Amino acid sequence: MKLLLSSRNLHKLEEIRAILPATITVEPWDSDVEIEESADTFEGNAFIKAYAGWEQMGIPCLGEDSGLSVPALGGAPGVMSARFAGEPRSDFANIQLLLKQMEGVHDRSAYFTTVLALVMDGNEYSFEGRVEGRIATAIHGAMGFGYDPVFIPEGYDQTFAELGPLIKNHISHRARALSKLTAFLKAFSC
Ligand code: IMP
Repeated sequence: MKLLLSSRNLHKLEEIRAILPATITVEPWDSDVEIEESADTFEGNAFIKAYAGWEQMGIPCLGEDSGLSVPALGGAPGVMSARFAGEPRSDFANIQLLLKQMEGVHDRSAYFTTVLALVMDGNEYSFEGRVEGRIATAIHGAMGFGYDPVFIPEGYDQTFAELGPLIKNHISHRARALSKLTAFLKAFSC
């Protein structure tokens, strides 16, 4: 089965392709249309992206929205994860701001969320995945993207950026949401 992914984020595409079984292929949908992520939930933004692709291309389209939530910061950066430190978007600036806001904060717990929205034949479905962990006190590691260098998943003592794709793609928020999507598509095509 072929799905379009409504995203310009090549890191996400790479992770999604590495995690999904070979029976599900994902092609990027990179249009000129600037999609405004105006919803205040991951699910809302994921559906905005999925519908944009579905409406233009008419084939099953996935929208993916994800981010980091830190309870001690009232859930921030949350849906603003990509633009936490403003424009132009910069992973490094986002991490610096996060570490600054976490200075002196005792509760460093955090979690990543991914919502995958699927629009297919005009019907909509969504799949959520989450991974719990904590925010490191400094940047560690060079793999991955976004907040990976400061996120230590539960059960580990290294960041995603140190653990690398084999471990990350096994336990991540994205892996958990994709596993639900895969189970759904398997049942759907039976
Ligand atoms: P989106 O493209 O609006 O969904 O932005 C998601 C943002 O959340 C990214 O730019 C990253 O800052 C952050 N993010 C989402 N997933 C991950 C991940 O797996 N690792 C690190 N950061 C992530």
